[in-house]
Amino acid sequence: SSDRVFNFAAGPATLPENVLKKAQSELYVYQNSGMSVMEMSHRGKEFTAIIQKAEADLRELLAVPENYSVLFLQGGATTQFAAIPLNICAPDDSADFIVTGSWGDKAYKEASKYCKPNLIWSGKSEKYTKIPAFGELKQNVGAKYLHICANETIHGVEFKDYPEVGNEGGVLVADMSSNFCSKKVDVSKFGIIYAGAQKNVGPSGVTIVIIRKDLIGKAQGSTPVMLDYKIHDENNSLYNTPPCYGIYMCGLVFEDLLAQGGLGEVEKKNVKKAGILYDAIDGSKGFYRCPVEKSVRSLMNVPFTLEKSELEAEFIKEAAKEKMVQLKGHRSVGGMRASIYNAMPLAGVEKLVAFMKDFQARHG
Ligand code: PMP
Repeated sequence: SSDRVFNFAAGPATLPENVLKKAQSELYVYQNSGMSVMEMSHRGKEFTAIIQKAEADLRELLAVPENYSVLFLQGGATTQFAAIPLNICAPDDSADFIVTGSWGDKAYKEASKYCKPNLIWSGKSEKYTKIPAFGELKQNVGAKYLHICANETIHGVEFKDYPEVGNEGGVLVADMSSNFCSKKVDVSKFGIIYAGAQKNVGPSGVTIVIIRKDLIGKAQGSTPVMLDYKIHDENNSLYNTPPCYGIYMCGLVFEDLLAQGGLGEVEKKNVKKAGILYDAIDGSKGFYRCPVEKSVRSLMNVPFTLEKSELEAEFIKEAAKEKMVQLKGHRSVGGMRASIYNAMPLAGVEKLVAFMKDFQARHG
């Protein structure tokens, strides 16, 4: 509608308009319950149906195998940086980390409080613009997990395929916060996939964990009850009061993604949107520049700089006037960043590209 902007924020991020409207239509009174979803018991029949359908739809979207649990938790992806080693490592166990950006680095640092992480590859010296060739990685014998951040939200670096875990008994663990449900993923390759909801699938406050069931039940003795996957698994994510409204919103997004034809179709749209934006950057004769190696550029977060960096503030200001907001890059890297998650329509990216060309014509 005319009072909505194109919101290129990295998260919380734009949500599908039809989902927001559906939520609006059900906000005051949800179906025949006589109350809103925010007011109802998390153990009542309406909310039970909501969370069960959200889980079923997510399982269908990602073809989650039977031997995996789906958990709806709180605390953000950041809490999982600690929960993962607490649940699948003893304090002296090791874990391997490939760090391709700031989020992977945070996960690595947090894990060091609860296990013995090894940094087996870091892209820091190359300003986090690359993913390593998997063949050159030296994984450590006995490492309980190999951690990756599947899409680095700040640096715009995305794994296009995944390393095999070299250790028997070790599993691949992926932070998919910023590319969750943006494309098909073979869940069976992972021990744990986790994601904060607030980029692709809902509002902040919900954290989704997909975990192979045999990894559950081995938490360190000191693990807080709220971080113990076994507790949440046994209680179907209802051990304590869950983020009910957020889970309801995620459910509406999952329904919408299924109605679009599933993640294969969603991926095609994302490839197209990212393609026209990267083409505009690469075709600008250096006026705009994306530092990320082409083969690993993110479909979700597109960082770019202006050759004349003194024009960046003007770019952001003019874009905002045209109702394209939140284009400022992360404070740690500067420049611009356009986050173009599932819910960013093609029209939003086309409008941004047209603006970029016009801006270049005026300032180039
Ligand atoms: N991992 C990634 C890849 C992220 O983008 C973010 C949030 N921007 C986080 C982890 C942290 O998530 P949260 O704020 O939900 O703790």
